[in-house]
Amino acid sequence: MNHSFHIPVRGTLRNLAPYSPGKPIWELQNELGLSNVVKLASNENPLGPSPKALEAIALSLSDLHRYPDAGTVRLRQALAARHMMAPEQFIVSNGGDELITLIAETFLEPGDEVIVCSPSFSEYEFGAHLMGATVVSVPLDPSFQFVSEAIVEAVTARTRWICLCSPNNPTGTYLSRDALHRLLDALPEHVLVLLDAAYSQFATASDYTDGLEFVRAGYPVIVLQTFSKLYGLAGLRVGYGTAHEALIRQIVKVKEPFNVNALAQIAATAALQDEEHVRLTLEANQEGKRQLYHAFQKMGLSYTESMGNFMLVEIGAEANRIYEALLARGIIVRYGGIWNLPRHLRISVGNREENAGLIRALADILACGK
Ligand SMILES: *Cc1c(COP(=O)(O)O)cnc(C)c1O
Repeated sequence: MNHSFHIPVRGTLRNLAPYSPGKPIWELQNELGLSNVVKLASNENPLGPSPKALEAIALSLSDLHRYPDAGTVRLRQALAARHMMAPEQFIVSNGGDELITLIAETFLEPGDEVIVCSPSFSEYEFGAHLMGATVVSVPLDPSFQFVSEAIVEAVTARTRWICLCSPNNPTGTYLSRDALHRLLDALPEHVLVLLDAAYSQFATASDYTDGLEFVRAGYPVIVLQTFSKLYGLAGLRVGYGTAHEALIRQIVKVKEPFNVNALAQIAATAALQDEEHVRLTLEANQEGKRQLYHAFQKMGLSYTESMGNFMLVEIGAEANRIYEALLARGIIVRYGGIWNLPRHLRISVGNREENAGLIRALADILACGK
């Protein structure tokens, strides 16, 4: 029997664009019948997960019949010790992505305004639209730098939330400490700032800030960080926010009790102590960036110096075709079209062999024009 039905959905769902993730390895393997696929599309850690996290997970598997700690107490204590702050200033989430949604659910009413910079990470717009808020987009300048004056000018009485990503995904550019300081001082009291510092540990510029100093100084800033990138735990889904406890207390109200699974909590707590894995990851990233920059220079391609573990490369009018040609050779990167950058590719820094494979394929495709 075929029943007909008409279930109305919330109007704001019309505004929700599906997230476009990097193509998964298995999908390309199935499509091409290739066994060797290289993924440089989601800024994952090419060294793999923290070995200490894996050990900790192995030791805790037999406790999986227990619910996880709803308050993520151990992990918050470890984070508090690491950042020399109070555990009450942290909230742990099911990936940094969930934190963005939780912030939206806590602070946004329909019709409120959310300022995002563009191009940037798409999840801020998702959170805004989910709550029926209006997205106000402020472009980066032509060299992908933040334009603080334009951000301040975009603020109205309805502005609730400003989302800043530094280092910015997908451009790799960042907001300097001074620029953030001036921006925060210029904002009215009713505006919350998200500083998305998902890539903070990769940043090497001396005037970079992960924003925590402004949390400590009492500004209404929430800093987002994640275990997905540096610690190599993207598949487990753990991220966290750091802010004044009065803000955290409100956000905790909308979170589901068991939002962070038990293995994720245990792995993240162990990964935080895995100094060797962090050191190797940062070294490999620096080396990988040099390797890629050098190759792009030789190919005459311009790129943006990145403070992250990825880089934006200007390929030109053929960028989409070249993205497809790389896919056909089993190499997955991101086409810039999703950020309105149709001439660009975003390429995650891989390990030495992965980078070399990308460089060979790209040089080949550019040379023979196919
Ligand atoms: C990866 C990323 C996050 C968080 O990712 P999760 O895997 O959900 O922790 C947040 N912001 C930006 C800009 C990112 O690139």
